[in-house]
Amino acid sequence: MSIGNVSREGTWFMEFNTPFSWHVRGIRKVLYSGTTKYQRVAVVEFEDLGKALILDGKIQSTLYDEFIYHESLVHPAMITHPNPRKVLILGGGEGATAREVLKHRSVEEVVMVDIDEDVIKISKEYLPEMNQGVFGNPKLKLVIDDGRKFVSNTKDKYDAIILDLTDPLEGGPSYLLYTVEFYNILKNRLNENGIIVTQATSTFYALRTFATVYRTMASVFPIARPYHVYVPSFDSTWGFVIGSFNLDPLTLTPEEINTRIRDRIHGELRFYEGDIHKVLFTLPKHIRNALEDKSIIPATDNNPTFLPA
Ligand code: SAM
Repeated sequence: MSIGNVSREGTWFMEFNTPFSWHVRGIRKVLYSGTTKYQRVAVVEFEDLGKALILDGKIQSTLYDEFIYHESLVHPAMITHPNPRKVLILGGGEGATAREVLKHRSVEEVVMVDIDEDVIKISKEYLPEMNQGVFGNPKLKLVIDDGRKFVSNTKDKYDAIILDLTDPLEGGPSYLLYTVEFYNILKNRLNENGIIVTQATSTFYALRTFATVYRTMASVFPIARPYHVYVPSFDSTWGFVIGSFNLDPLTLTPEEINTRIRDRIHGELRFYEGDIHKVLFTLPKHIRNALEDKSIIPATDNNPTFLPA
């Protein structure tokens, strides 16, 4: 079957969004391919999206549009918090999430916990554009551990917790970090005004998974706010969910957000601003209906949620 022009190197990356739909990207060069203790890892240069990190067959980020994903993940929660000083990141192997967090002048310490030291080493070597030197920042403390184990053992508390984990895949390393039990552990690791945000998979290809993550967060936190953004390299709108005790991102006007960006962030934002914040949290009716679907029950350790298989 012809799949159009053959890429220069003649090889294609096929990513399954569901068992019945996939998208194909032309590969210019394979920079790294291997298997770590936890996952399959590849770094490729796509013909159209530039360099990219791929874990267990899922694109994590590409140089072409990673700023859309990482700014959307980090800044709505960080800007909503009045003065985030201590931040915990679970996952985030490429270092781009830590890069965005450290743009906030108020941040004094970022603890980044990733289960896979090899992903970090590979990202440092082949994708320096992602971390932009952040691993050398004295405010960043890098911990190699399972995120759930780390938060279960630490007594530290944080102003913001950012979950930049791989999608919940059956047999993958992260699915137990999308459950009621896990969010209850995090609840006790947040300071009084604490806020949490998680990536929550595709609002198109995995709408039930997204709705499950939202309903799981909403069963633990009094305020749960879903949002999404279109990420070209994911070939989909991508969901996120914020949870908090008393901080509501919907209460901020575009003007207030732009003022906070001006006063609190150093370095450039290429995507996020006041008007975009409003767009992010404006979900269409079919997604809002899915979020309110009572047949979708919160994920638990005994009944976790997975991407559609
Ligand atoms: N931007 C990506 C996305 O949302 O599709 C995710 C970013 S990052 C590459 C995902 C990271 O989660 C990886 O570095 C992986 O090693 C890490 N990870 C997966 N399971 C984990 C766990 N249980 N504890 C800590 N880190 C984990």
